Amino acid sequence: MKTGLQVGLETSLPPEAALQKQSRWNWQEVNMASRINTRLTDAYGRTLDYLRISLTDRCDFRCVYCLPPEGVDPIKQKAVLATDEVLRLARVFAALGVCRVRLTGGEPLLRKDIVSLVRGLSTITGIEELLLTTNGSRLAGMVGLLKQAGLKGVNISIDSLQRQRFSAITGRDRLREVVCGLQQAVKQSLKVKINTVALKGLSRVEVHDLCDLAYQLPIEVRFLEVMPLCGSAWQPNLGLSLSTVRTWIEEKFKLVPLARHYQPAESFSLQGGVGRIGFIQPLSQPFCHTCNRLRLTADGTLRLCLYAHASVDLCRPLRQGASDREIGNIIKAAIWHKPLGYEVLKNTTNHATLPKIRQLGG
Ligand code: SF4
Repeated sequence: MKTGLQVGLETSLPPEAALQKQSRWNWQEVNMASRINTRLTDAYGRTLDYLRISLTDRCDFRCVYCLPPEGVDPIKQKAVLATDEVLRLARVFAALGVCRVRLTGGEPLLRKDIVSLVRGLSTITGIEELLLTTNGSRLAGMVGLLKQAGLKGVNISIDSLQRQRFSAITGRDRLREVVCGLQQAVKQSLKVKINTVALKGLSRVEVHDLCDLAYQLPIEVRFLEVMPLCGSAWQPNLGLSLSTVRTWIEEKFKLVPLARHYQPAESFSLQGGVGRIGFIQPLSQPFCHTCNRLRLTADGTLRLCLYAHASVDLCRPLRQGASDREIGNIIKAAIWHKPLGYEVLKNTTNHATLPKIRQLGG
């Protein structure tokens, strides 16, 4: 039976992981061979200090660009990390230099322990910023508690402000609840961003409506290219080009460029307005060279890149008694395999074989 590392990686494993493979969970050997430092730097010199934790693969929405028609194999409940397991792994990552954590899903607000998870994560030494990505339908009633527990910011997925189109995209007539969640998050002075996937059918009016929100409110509205991570649902013409979206925006608003730093979004302030506009173009302008992200799935699998199947199982050593240091060594061995995602994508002929965003949490 396989160790934590997936097929196709074994041949190029660094020594530590090769030891792990040989001796199956004999962490003492791994331990001796490991070099300890407090930063996760991969083979491309990228510092990986941002962990996205998918708390569940379950979701109460059925977005057309996320859930593949062939469905995804749900993670078994007993395989889902418990509250204390999530907190323990987050502590190990924080000790290795992770300072930013984003909670994702599926839909993370479906987790009954979400408030205690946020409280626990926000007290971990080294985690400076705790964020959440949600479809927003359950946010209004929880945002106060989440803010009190230590949440700093929230990204809400809103692909249209038109009720009918919103329902057609998400499979749910829940726009009113989502907008209510947005208003409450702004009231709580959280850092609020709206993620709008630029799907074919998005109109000039809808784009202007979303920008009007950013003009009036201290939020950032980001337009995202559709990514081919939805199995057989992927069609190259599923998305609308962001240059078209930008042209529409500039018909009505003056965009003022802002410094970019490491973030994936190219951001602008709106002249005369309060908020910002951003463009995220992983396909047409990939940002893999500055990628600082790692992902932990709900069943404790460390995923190195959105486009790659390269991963390592952290749950089994965790449940089999490995120490924090030993789990840290497994993480450090694995990150050497973090690829440049656009290279993986370039060499992919059948997009349906790519990982599914539903389980990775975006
Ligand atoms: S595709 Fe992979 S390497 Fe590129 S930005 Fe995304 S996670 Fe990072």
